[in-house]
Amino acid sequence: MNNLTAISEKLAEEIEKHLVENQVTISLSEIERTSRKLLQEIGRQAIAKVTQKQETPYPEQVMCEKGHKMSYQRMRTATLHTVCGTCQVKRRYYLCPSCHTGRVPLDERLRLRPNGHSAELEKLMAMTGVQLPYGKGSDLFKALMLLEVSEPSLSKATLKVGELVREQEAKSQKNSLNEAYLLQTKRENRTPLRLYGTIDAAKVQIREEEGHQWRDLKLGAWFTARGKPPNNPDGAWKIQAEQIHYYADIAPAKRFGELLWGSGVDHLAHLAQELIFLGDGADWIWNLVAQHFPKAIQILDWFHASEHLMPVAQAVFSTTDEQVAWVSMMKQLMWDGKTNLLIAHCHQLEANSDANVIGTTAAYFENHKDRMRYDYFRNQGYQIGSGTIESAAKQIGLMRMKVPGASWNFENACKVAKARAAYLSDGWQSLPLAL
Ligand SMILES: [Zn+2]
Repeated sequence: MNNLTAISEKLAEEIEKHLVENQVTISLSEIERTSRKLLQEIGRQAIAKVTQKQETPYPEQVMCEKGHKMSYQRMRTATLHTVCGTCQVKRRYYLCPSCHTGRVPLDERLRLRPNGHSAELEKLMAMTGVQLPYGKGSDLFKALMLLEVSEPSLSKATLKVGELVREQEAKSQKNSLNEAYLLQTKRENRTPLRLYGTIDAAKVQIREEEGHQWRDLKLGAWFTARGKPPNNPDGAWKIQAEQIHYYADIAPAKRFGELLWGSGVDHLAHLAQELIFLGDGADWIWNLVAQHFPKAIQILDWFHASEHLMPVAQAVFSTTDEQVAWVSMMKQLMWDGKTNLLIAHCHQLEANSDANVIGTTAAYFENHKDRMRYDYFRNQGYQIGSGTIESAAKQIGLMRMKVPGASWNFENACKVAKARAAYLSDGWQSLPLAL
């Protein structure tokens, strides 16, 4: 019989004892609840014991930063908040007689955080905080982890991830402005064959001195993709985006452009053989793309483009059948890259209606004609719609930032958006959270 079997038999006895003592009607749920509670307590005690055992039996030779010999003072107790609950550990405390600085070698060795949340616990808290409003997150955390974490501490853990992301972004941006670094990326010969970029924005409400303001949360993503668009505009889209990396900021276009360039260099977008950008019609997006990646292929997102058709149809045709028939015909023209014909059809309708939407839509198509060569793009095997990416990008803004009653100050909104973008990215595990 191995050790764990022996322990589990003891635990089984203990669970039964608890059930009898508490006079509960036995059900699987009761057995599960009792089992978890006891396991948690066993884990808590074990963590304390193992951690304590890492301390040396006798005082050791400890130097201060300046190389003086420090003298052992006493054992100091620290409270540790771990994934199994709170425990206490005694650590040796040393003091330098010359500098009067103290050191606790065990804290350094095990990366203890006396009186704080352990790094592992904090990581789990941050994963909850990026997903849910802190109140709901706190409830869920308690249900899953059997631990009480306050809303402010969930917030703190989440914002810390945002800060970490911001630091990494600053590093990337610095590299991206360094000629030697750029040259080095070229020499490494890791040129991506086909890389996609997309940029978008969502509105978030920010608390400011003059009251609430709607600000643009700008979002970007880099990804590679497998699969092709369907054979006809109404076919099923089965595109698999891979290696998705999201980034976000609440910043003017110029500053967001620096982030675009910095994260682009991280993904070797500046070297990509084919760099394809998908976006909606907003000018700032295409200006940034042209400025930072002038060779990129620009594609007006298919879904954005086709969404403009129905309002035109509704302005002109009275029955749903007529509207749908016209939209379907226009979609086919778009799909085949016959943008001039599409525009001509729009102008034709202008004669029958004085709704502004017809003229503005025709102008919109005219403006993005080069980005609507969907027949050519499809022949090249390019993705023409950023559907999956975009909906996920919108989630960064909408799901987490637009919860009812949430009002963010600017700093926290930026950090949560960054944390959330990182969490939705494929590289989330590589963030140095729990060391
Ligand atoms: Zn010293």
